[in-house]
Order: sequence, then C-alpha cells, then structure tokens
Amino acid sequence: MKQPFYITTTLPYVNTKAHVGHALEFIRADTLARYKALTGFEVFLNTGADEHGVKIYQKAKEEGRDVQEYVDEYAKHLEDLTIKLGMARDVDGITFNFTRTTNKEHTEAAKKFWNICKENGYIEKRKYKGLYCVSDELFIPEKDLVNGRCPNHPDKDLEEVEEENYFFKASAFSEELVDLYENNPDFIFPKERLNEMKSLVEKGLEDFSISRLAEKMPWGIPVPYDPEQVMYVWFDALVNYINVIGWPDDLDSFNKWWPVTQYCGKDNTRQQAAMWQSMLMAANLPPSRRIVVNGFVTSGGVKMSKSLGNIVDPLELIDEFGIDALRYYVLREVNPFEDSDLTKKRFLEVYNANLVNGLGNLVSRVMKMSEDFGVSYTNEQITEVIEAEREDVFSVDSKYREGAEEYRFNDAMDAVFKVVQETDEFIQKEEPFKVIKENKEKALQDVFTCVHSVIKISQMLLPMMPETSEKIVQAVLENKKPEEPIFPRK
Ligand SMILES: [Zn+2]
Repeated sequence: MKQPFYITTTLPYVNTKAHVGHALEFIRADTLARYKALTGFEVFLNTGADEHGVKIYQKAKEEGRDVQEYVDEYAKHLEDLTIKLGMARDVDGITFNFTRTTNKEHTEAAKKFWNICKENGYIEKRKYKGLYCVSDELFIPEKDLVNGRCPNHPDKDLEEVEEENYFFKASAFSEELVDLYENNPDFIFPKERLNEMKSLVEKGLEDFSISRLAEKMPWGIPVPYDPEQVMYVWFDALVNYINVIGWPDDLDSFNKWWPVTQYCGKDNTRQQAAMWQSMLMAANLPPSRRIVVNGFVTSGGVKMSKSLGNIVDPLELIDEFGIDALRYYVLREVNPFEDSDLTKKRFLEVYNANLVNGLGNLVSRVMKMSEDFGVSYTNEQITEVIEAEREDVFSVDSKYREGAEEYRFNDAMDAVFKVVQETDEFIQKEEPFKVIKENKEKALQDVFTCVHSVIKISQMLLPMMPETSEKIVQAVLENKKPEEPIFPRK
C-alpha cells in the first residue's frame, strides 16, 4: 500500500484578485504533490478560499453587494487560477481538493472544533478593548504599535474595538510549543523562521480574542450557543486543514492523512506555526507535520502595489508565455525561502535565455538531427528508456532529489539545466552534424546519446513543468523536431 502524504497551501483571502504570491504558493505545493506522487506516495493536495472576516464584509458593503455573491465571485477567481496554473486535477496518485470556508461541512467542523476547545477549558468570555487592523484581521497589541498604527499598515487607521468577546487561551501553550520546535528542528522550513518563532513564543504567547459581536460584524460563523457572536476569521479558517481530510466525521480518513505539510507566506508564519498549533493542542489533536515558509515576491525591490503600478499579474504572464514559463520562474528564479524580485523585464530575459535558447533550442536541435539522420528506434525502446530515466532521476540524482525533498526546487531545476548544458557541450564537442558525413555510425550513436539526455530532462521536469515534459516526450516518440517551438521567442 502506498504511504499517504498530505499537502496544503494556506487558503487565500477572497477580497482581491489572485496575485503572483498566490501563484507562487500554488505552484510550489503542486510541484511537491507531483514529486511525492512520482516517488510512490498517495497524495492529498488541498487549497481553497478563506471567505469570512471584516475585510470582506466591508469591501462587499462598499460595493453595495450581497456578501455571499461577492465571495462566490472571488472564490471562482481563485479556483480558475488553480486551473490556469495547471494544479494536479487529473494526475495519478493525487487527490486535488478546492475548499471554501463558507461551505456547510466547514462551518459545522468549525463549530465542533470550537465546542471541543471550550469543553477543554481553553475558551472564555472576557471584556475586551483593543485596536484591530482590518487589513491583517488581527488585534495589534499596544507594544507592537508604530506611531499608534499597525507596523504592516502605517497608512491605515486601526479600528477601536470595545466589546465582550470570547478569548482563546493561547498562553497555556507557550511551553508546549517551544517543546514542539525544540523536538522537531525541521518543523519549520527554513530554519531561520523556526528560530524566529521560537524566540517569539519563548516570550510567552498572549491569549487572543476569537469572536466579534454579530451586531457589528455579522459575516462569520455563529458561535455555538451564542448567536450574538460570530467567530474570528482565523479561528474558523484554520480548521479547514483538518476538515477537508475528514475531521470530525470520518476519523479513519483523518488519521490516514494527518499530519499535514503546509505552505505559507512569511507574513503568516505566526498564525500557522503558533496560533494554529496551539489550537490543535487545545483540541487534543497532533500538530502539523511541517510548515514551509515562502518569501515575498517584490517588483523592482519593493512590494507590489496598485499605487506604484508595479503589479505583475500571473494570469497575464501565463497568457503571454504559457504556464510552464511561470512555473519555471517561480521554481527556479525565485528564492525558495527569501524575498525575490519579479519584473516583466527580468521575466522576459530569463525566458529567452533559459527556455527559448536553452531548453527549447536543445530539444529542437537534437530532434532535428535525429529526424534528419534517420536515427531509428521503436516506441518500446523509448518507453524503456523513459521508465529507466524516471527511476534514475528519483533515486540516483542526489542534488535533484535533495532539492525536491527540502523544498528547494531551484536546486532541482539547476540539476535539470546542468543536463541541458552538458548536452549542449557534448554536441559542441562531438559535432555529430559534421561527423555524419564521414562516420555515420558514430554520429548516429552520438545523436542517440543526446536523445537519451533529452528524455532524462523530460523526466526531471515532470513535477515542475509537466506540460513541457509531455511535449518533449511527444517529440521523442514521433522522432521529429516539434512543429511549433516549445518556447516561442518573445
Ligand atoms: Zn495591519
């Protein structure tokens, strides 16, 4: 029986159109899922839309729209993005799931989760006065204020909230969390993020408010037995990670898949690696398996923003360059854990240099020689080579494998492009296009060696650039140069 492996992204908030940060996280989680499936795991891949909270409520009201209709529309944008990015819907060994936090199963699970935490003594009602950042959907403690404002949103006023709320006693779990980090040094990737989290939690976690008065903010899941309150958006949304694999109704399924490997952005580390883990502890559930933290994608060295006009739209890039060009960029050119830059100019440079002139050109060149010289092989022979290469890639090529296992797909990509470069050099050195005139046998052999390398490349690309991988295999099976270049020059 195959070993189960469960991967989730964070669920993007539906108040905005999909941006490149979402694309980055979706592509990486998808690549990991494909890699795991190819190496013998049965994979569950989850993503979806986070649909409650003040921000959405206010935005819908501003636009004079029905809130449900508003979230329906934006959830659709996100789901479309997962399709455009080629997330693994029909791939052997992968179950793909797109969830929405307004669906009934989720709503019921969140209530059940609340009740368990309350029965266990970790939820209580208190009078509360605090400053709320709507953009972050977080209360900002006095000590974190910068000029009286949220450090992440210096241009926005905080909302003063004074009401009676339910509180989650996160402070009860500070020690247990530190133990979790200390006993599992791989719990958060990269290590620097783990150290940050550890020093934060060592200072002691603060209890936090997990409900709002429905009269002021009705857009949320009602608190069980208290219709005057709705749940705080984070508290409800995080429960999706256990609900989508069966909790609380199908515990066999839950136990099969749990614990999870989670992807998140670095502005989310605290919520995923501390808040969520303390909630799991409060409900007597085991912690996540791992949190993988992505850096930000900047543009021209600064945050992308409407006012700066430097937003790069992932959908536009896909329309112009194709999905695998974007997958290539975020897997290889964006640092796996630190902030990286993406501008249209840089994208175009990299596209032409590495995909058009590098990979695409090599495939065309090799297949053209193979076609012209009449290198002959049967589909059976080729299928054998393909299968052998797939085995080899996943078991022998250590740089590739370690990169993929440790979420550094840039290293796995480097390993692919090393083969591209070596094959180019081999052609340069052996010159089969000249040798063919005097020693046909040697030339044919050399070209077949190149075809073999191209097959190796196609198999290495399977989890990262599945469409390209398929195109290469197709050209090899037809034994001819692709009619359309795999990467047209731009
Ligand atoms: Zn903020």
